[in-house]
Amino acid sequence: MIDVLLPDGNTISMSDDATSLDVAMGISAGLARVVVAAEVDGNLVDAMAPLEQWRETQPLPIKLLTERDAAALSVMRHSCAHVMARAVMRLYEGVSLAFGPVRGNVFYYDFGLDQQIGEDDFPAIEQEMKKIVKEKEPFEQFLLDREQATALCRDLGQELKVEHIDTGLAEHEQLGFYRQGEFVDLCRGPHVPNAGKIKAFKLLSVAGAYWKGDAKNRQLQRIYGTAWFSKQQLKDYLELVEEQKRRDHRVLGKKHGLFHITAERVGSGLCLWLPKGATVRSILEGFLRDEMHKRGYRPVYTPHIGRVELYETSGHFPYYRDSQFTPLFGQEAGQLVDSWVNRLSDEGDSLTADDERKLCEAAKVLGADLEKYDENASKEDRIAALKQWESRQERYLVKPMNCPHHAEIYRSQPRSYRDLPLRLFEFGTVYRHEQTGELNGMLRVRGLTQDDAHIFCTQEQVEDEFRATIELTQHVLESVGLSDYHVQLSLREPNSDKYVGSDENWAKAESALRRVLVESKLPFSEQEGEAAFYGPKADFLVRDCIGRQWQLGTVQLDYNLPERFQLEYVGTDNQPHRPVMIHRAPFGSMERFIGVLIEHFAAAFPLWLAPEQLRVLPLSEKTEAYAEEVRQRFAAAGFRVTTDVRSAKVQAKIRDAQLELIPYMLVVGPREAENGQVAVRDRIDGDLGAVSIDEALSRLSEEVRERRVRQVAESKLSAFSEEDEESNEY
Ligand SMILES: [Zn+2]
Ligand SMILES: [Zn+2]
Repeated sequence: MIDVLLPDGNTISMSDDATSLDVAMGISAGLARVVVAAEVDGNLVDAMAPLEQWRETQPLPIKLLTERDAAALSVMRHSCAHVMARAVMRLYEGVSLAFGPVRGNVFYYDFGLDQQIGEDDFPAIEQEMKKIVKEKEPFEQFLLDREQATALCRDLGQELKVEHIDTGLAEHEQLGFYRQGEFVDLCRGPHVPNAGKIKAFKLLSVAGAYWKGDAKNRQLQRIYGTAWFSKQQLKDYLELVEEQKRRDHRVLGKKHGLFHITAERVGSGLCLWLPKGATVRSILEGFLRDEMHKRGYRPVYTPHIGRVELYETSGHFPYYRDSQFTPLFGQEAGQLVDSWVNRLSDEGDSLTADDERKLCEAAKVLGADLEKYDENASKEDRIAALKQWESRQERYLVKPMNCPHHAEIYRSQPRSYRDLPLRLFEFGTVYRHEQTGELNGMLRVRGLTQDDAHIFCTQEQVEDEFRATIELTQHVLESVGLSDYHVQLSLREPNSDKYVGSDENWAKAESALRRVLVESKLPFSEQEGEAAFYGPKADFLVRDCIGRQWQLGTVQLDYNLPERFQLEYVGTDNQPHRPVMIHRAPFGSMERFIGVLIEHFAAAFPLWLAPEQLRVLPLSEKTEAYAEEVRQRFAAAGFRVTTDVRSAKVQAKIRDAQLELIPYMLVVGPREAENGQVAVRDRIDGDLGAVSIDEALSRLSEEVRERRVRQVAESKLSAFSEEDEESNEY
């Protein structure tokens, strides 16, 4: 017998061959009908999985999952990916199956297939999927040992799966498969009991992908879809997707001339800010710069490159090498020696004696003097000899982080407790070598400007500094109408020794951060074990007007860099002490922040941020001179204003200004000219009537001064929770 513990605290005894579905059946037939999956002893599993395998835990905790549980949704979506794969295999010859996981609300499956699938083919695939769902066939799991599993995949003609068993799953003794009718797939699961649980689905798009995400591997076709437990949920979700498409910053950025990215001519992920986008950015930068000055920050500027040694000191090199651009070498042989060191440091001993001889010769040809290098010396000595040569050469890194430069500014002179807190800020541009597939318009780029600052303070000052940065971040977010946010406080994992800094300081810092958040009445959640090894942090998670969540501002405490850079200050006791470093960026990066703003506002920026705030529209040639006079008055008051002097009808001018999302139009005809007035037209509310120039100036100036945000139409769509990535592959 197996004793089962239900969430309500009741225990029931089940026979040895029972499943979660049997548990449900024991409660009521109605419950058994709606069970989608189960959580057994904390594991998300099939409702049909025999409970025997967990019998060591007794009583065994079981939670039955129905359509109301978020976890059930991802199980059903992944099952829908199987159904899609089955349909594709019915319709096409020679399909190689790769992986089919769930990402948030979306599932996909990667297929190796010679024939190109397009969106035109979706109705036929969906039709076939509907047939499969209607048959309600069960998903049956079975286990095979390695040899049998390989043989089965080979029989099925699934060479990618064979390769995966040999490589990614080399450690597994037993492998799980799922059968649904004629469709058999290597898969860890879990799955819904039968295909009838899939209530509503739709295929969304198709894109290229590589086997295991590596561009050197076979090119695959990835079909995306979504699935829901009701038609209404699917409908709401598709509306949200449409709304997202309408707000896509890549499309709007092009349409409204905000930014331009050209992989072929400038480089992937490198953003060209066009005048309109650059205007928005410079206004935001100016706004933040003023706030920094008010709050006692001091500006600094640092170069775009720094010696590799600087990043060795900070620890950013070579540990994050994969996400950095290759160093710039001052000596021709630099690159050669660099890869030589890497090959030698390689665990796998990838350097043969023959290769080594060739490297020595090549180094000589390139004029590198490696006299100290002895091919017969130990590996460590050879690496040391090469590194010694390197240390005499100039090597630079394109700046991946501003922090080391700021730490050097701190070090540039003796510091006393009277100098602290020292707050240094810079709009610092950094470069990261993100994978091409990861790039996404302005949201994920290779060159980004952080609104970066580093605060150097005493442990006692941490609480006040943290409070001030939280308050600043709130002010910044609310100034652009992003007022729906919460804070995620990442703390260390208790009893772990992977953290730098004393236990005492961590405990003090964590309780200080918590105290500030409680006092501020901000909604926040604590995540134990999510802190970086160098300190606790607080991230702002912001919801935009259609309910999507973005991670923007961040505040991070750091006990590591002050140690690595040996930063000190003289305390009241006349003794040297180590300061704490706080990294913080309310925007995050200008690229990502403005990318999010474009989507949030659908490119219709509020008056204080709009690239072109006002446009003067003369009714005819006769009032052009007066229109110019009006333009000059507003320009002199600091407005970004133009005049439309085309010979078009005023209706056409209004239409164009509306399409270009200009917040206000000032229409001037003979009557306005005579009375010194302008007829104000609001992009949102339409005609506001004629007022004197002074009146219009004062009203609009006030709107700018208050940074009023009124363009955002609240979406009726509820927020769809974006779940974490689910992976059903092994
Ligand atoms: Zn599966
Ligand atoms: Zn930093």
